[in-house]
Amino acid sequence: MIVDEFIENPEPVSGFSNPENYWPDFLALLHLLLIKHGEKKFHMVTHGKKYSKNLCNLADKLELKWKVVKGTSLFEYQKQVTTLPQIVIDALGRDKNGIKTKGLVIAKDENTLNDLEDSVLSHSNIGKILEYPDCCVNWFVSNQSSGWEEVYAFIMENSREGTNTPIEEIILNMDQYFEYDYIPESEKRTRKIRIDHITESRETMPFIFFQPCDVCIGPSSPARKLNERYANFAKENYPQLYEIIISEGKKDAKAFR
Ligand SMILES: [Zn+2]
Repeated sequence: MIVDEFIENPEPVSGFSNPENYWPDFLALLHLLLIKHGEKKFHMVTHGKKYSKNLCNLADKLELKWKVVKGTSLFEYQKQVTTLPQIVIDALGRDKNGIKTKGLVIAKDENTLNDLEDSVLSHSNIGKILEYPDCCVNWFVSNQSSGWEEVYAFIMENSREGTNTPIEEIILNMDQYFEYDYIPESEKRTRKIRIDHITESRETMPFIFFQPCDVCIGPSSPARKLNERYANFAKENYPQLYEIIISEGKKDAKAFR
């Protein structure tokens, strides 16, 4: 009943919601249903957005529990092409480590939600909480690290004072210009991710939310297996939702071309 109603009248319930299609919203509904049936433990979105309230309402209707979980952030960096100078790594750590952060989490019961309280909400840990494959989580952190290296090189090339720039100013600029389109390396890398990874996953793995890594865009990968597991759950229990996630996923893929 709730599923039919939502398919009839979908609402934005995801950070990926967009005016072009309802793929993110139907997929969010499926992930809540996976939790309800004990197939998945958590669903998480940014707290305090317009769509988060809609998501809480949907969770209430499905008799799931939700909570704004408090945690701390952590700067994660793995050397890619050229290591960032240690002084920059340290300053980014000082700027980001231990900062209080919040996430809106949905689970089956309150105890499960309370277990997450005071967690480190780093990219790696969020990936683990949401049951993403390790390879894809590592690949995401590597990509972010490349972004930090690219933005540092860009700022150094374009600053008159170069390495004499005060470190606080360097960090501010790095935050501001991270994955900025005018940085050719970042633009090239993120374009490749959009085409080879995001478009590919919307077309052939529309039942997962994360970006599949280099290995996972290949055949019979961990991401493809996970996609298949979620797809089979949908096909068996909510055939109409299964069909519409596939068709809306194809529309969403077009937006990334
Ligand atoms: Zn992977």
